[in-house]
Amino acid sequence: QGFDVDVVVVGAGFAGLNAAARIVAAGRSVCVVEARDRVGGRTKPGTLSGHVVDLGGQWVGPDHRRLIALAARHRIPLEPQFEAGGKLIDYRGRVRRYEGLIPALPLLALLETDRVMKRIERMAAAIAVSAPWAAAGAADLDRITVAGWLDRNLRTKGAKAMMDIAVRAVFSAEPSEISMLFLLTYLRASGGLEPLISVRGGAQQDRVKGGLHPLSERLADEVGRGRLRLSSPVSGIEQDGDGVTVHVSGGEALRGRRAILAVPLALLSRIGAQPAWPALKTGLAQRSPMGSVIKCHVAYETPFWRARGLSGEAVSDAAPFSPVFDGTPEGARHGVLSGFLEGDAARTFTGKPPAERRQAVIATLTRLFGPEAGQPIDYVDNDWLEEEWSGGCYAGLMAPATMTSYGPALRTPAGRVHFAGTETALEATGYVEGALESGERAATEALRALS
Ligand code: FAD
Repeated sequence: QGFDVDVVVVGAGFAGLNAAARIVAAGRSVCVVEARDRVGGRTKPGTLSGHVVDLGGQWVGPDHRRLIALAARHRIPLEPQFEAGGKLIDYRGRVRRYEGLIPALPLLALLETDRVMKRIERMAAAIAVSAPWAAAGAADLDRITVAGWLDRNLRTKGAKAMMDIAVRAVFSAEPSEISMLFLLTYLRASGGLEPLISVRGGAQQDRVKGGLHPLSERLADEVGRGRLRLSSPVSGIEQDGDGVTVHVSGGEALRGRRAILAVPLALLSRIGAQPAWPALKTGLAQRSPMGSVIKCHVAYETPFWRARGLSGEAVSDAAPFSPVFDGTPEGARHGVLSGFLEGDAARTFTGKPPAERRQAVIATLTRLFGPEAGQPIDYVDNDWLEEEWSGGCYAGLMAPATMTSYGPALRTPAGRVHFAGTETALEATGYVEGALESGERAATEALRALS
């Protein structure tokens, strides 16, 4: 049977596009099949007050070297996240101002937060991302949720509240939803907890001028537009002795020697397989739900908080909209506050009219920043729980007893099908950088098999 291409890539997010770009660069033929009518997956453009904003992935950390190199190749500058000034915390009904990483808390809570963060950093440092299930104590760490571990190890309400806020911000999930071993592995893949919750030196350090989503368009240019099929949901993958046949809803089929599946693992069940996916791969996909997040941007006449010596950064232990950052595009006259409804808050507001979300978001901002925050000039949000081809965000999560029982299936190919996607990354799992790294690895696997 003849082949249409050497490799069929399913999914035109950063993972699939980077895999495809590598395959093209190696002189092999490729076709990228994408369900949406656009590239970029979990990055998405929106407009607010006439400016482009990222409705999905946005920030770039200093260790995101593949993403930084991609921006540099296309001469697109990064701009620093604004962070000058004080931050706000809404804790137990009071809004307080603080400087530094850990908010102003009662002394005992402050000391305990510092101690538990250091302990988590040490525990994460002992994990190998390539095989967390083999770490010392892995079985015990995978039997317990993050909430259970925090309950067992923390005494003060303040430290507990701070850790809940940090976990929600990193995972867009409640601490009761995820395994402690999964949390440690995820942190390890990004160098620890502090880099993930920090601006300077951390995952929120920079933004891409003009938005992160356009970089997926530039990566698609590198692949070659003629090699992309948009609006083509893949419904099934058949394998035989020679190659793979990728079936697209609507009847079309593409034949390749190898395939790379670069979709969130949680969506695997939507793609039928002949022969069936290996049992552990299916089991892992069934146990890897996506996080829950709605991203919101609010525009104001001016960044009024800056004039009051505030950075725009804020968190809350009770209000639905947390964390918040200054999202003002460089050079814009107006100001923007950007933030998230996460975990339970996202589930409360998903499917509701945007006006209802807007009201809750503005109410939180008014509580944090005062009456000026009640006078927005524009608002936009994106409900990622409702996105058919993401099924939630930022990324796939693992509940207890998943990583130790099913984890080894994460990156294992199924016959001629290789797996990419940020969930499978060894570096910066959950981030665009992780997506790029996973695409690179899957392309290397496929190219090696082809030669
Ligand atoms: P995806 O982008 O999900 O790509 C998978 C592609 O597969 C999609 O295009 C999808 O449409 C397609 N697909 C799915 N099923 C099928 C099918 N059956 N057939 C064909 N195609 C299919 N990361 C950062 O680095 N920095 C951030 O600041 C950041 N913030 C975020 C904020 C939000 C609100 C969200 C949603 C995400 C954020 N992320 C951030 C995470 C980042 O966006 C993702 O990690 C990254 O984009 C994932 O890329 P991917 O290629 O692995 O997956």
